[in-house]
Amino acid sequence: MENAVDVIVKWSGKEYKISSLSENDSVYTLKNAIHKETCVRPERQKLLNLKLKGKPPDDDCPLSALKLKQGFKIMMMGSLEEDIADASTPPEDMPEVINDLDIEEEEVAIESKDVYLAKIERRIRDYKVNMLNEPREGKKLLVLDIDYTLFDHRSTAETGYELMRPFLHEFLTSAYQDYDIVIWSATSMKWIEEKMKLLGVSTHSCYKIIFYLDSSAMISIHTPKYGVVQVKPLGVIWGKFEQYTSRNTIMFDDIRRNFLMNPGNGLKIRPFKQAHLNRDKDRELLRLAKYLKDIAHEEDFNSLDHRHWERYKPKKKSNKQDVKDGSSTSQGS
Ligand SMILES: [Mg+2]
Repeated sequence: MENAVDVIVKWSGKEYKISSLSENDSVYTLKNAIHKETCVRPERQKLLNLKLKGKPPDDDCPLSALKLKQGFKIMMMGSLEEDIADASTPPEDMPEVINDLDIEEEEVAIESKDVYLAKIERRIRDYKVNMLNEPREGKKLLVLDIDYTLFDHRSTAETGYELMRPFLHEFLTSAYQDYDIVIWSATSMKWIEEKMKLLGVSTHSCYKIIFYLDSSAMISIHTPKYGVVQVKPLGVIWGKFEQYTSRNTIMFDDIRRNFLMNPGNGLKIRPFKQAHLNRDKDRELLRLAKYLKDIAHEEDFNSLDHRHWERYKPKKKSNKQDVKDGSSTSQGS
């Protein structure tokens, strides 16, 4: 007679009881059962303490060989999987825009469509923002995507830290001096919170995030080129917080169509992918930190073209300030 195998999977702070297995089942069957409970796909599961002679067992290894005690707790890593998001958002691998100029007219048409403005109004009214920190007076606003912008969410790794874009904390620390920072990701709030914790962003002592926005703050629009897509309309933030406007807001994302409702305020960054290969070379965030610093004195961001951010030349500082400082602090003779 087959013996039942009851195990508990510990993942992401929660425990999942798996009691549908017998000792003749394979590790793969176990992984499928875990998939059912947690939505983490088998190929993404790292079962940390499941060992056969000190090594992770193969998928076809029978559970009987592992000699698991009843109620054995399996520790799983795999919190980076995003099946939930995949099911509810369009694929990110849509065709790249070949010539930015091509879509300019389309963008304008979309930006002003009443039906989309009405959707934004609804988000302003119904979307509940959970404030994490208070906005500071006189700061501009930086809105950041997560996946492929701050974090390579498709590679596998032992720790989230390995998938973090290089210089993330330096970047956020520098930006925080001039900008209030918002994170906006096309996933669920649960994942955003999880990732920010994983990366040490939510607890960092040198900067603070004022709030997170998730996929339910986005709206769907129809474009002739892509069909129906989800976008991140900054109007949702501008409608809720009157101090932020198109004059002082900049948004980073690796997908241009996320800006379709506010193309002038978006900066398309290079995506950070294949973290293991690119971790030592990627300096995008350092360069972007400098750009943010350089434009921080600009009174109206509408006068900037973020498509050419790498060519931006900071205006020479006028020496009025020096003169004034000089006179006010001048020492008597
Ligand atoms: Mg992204």
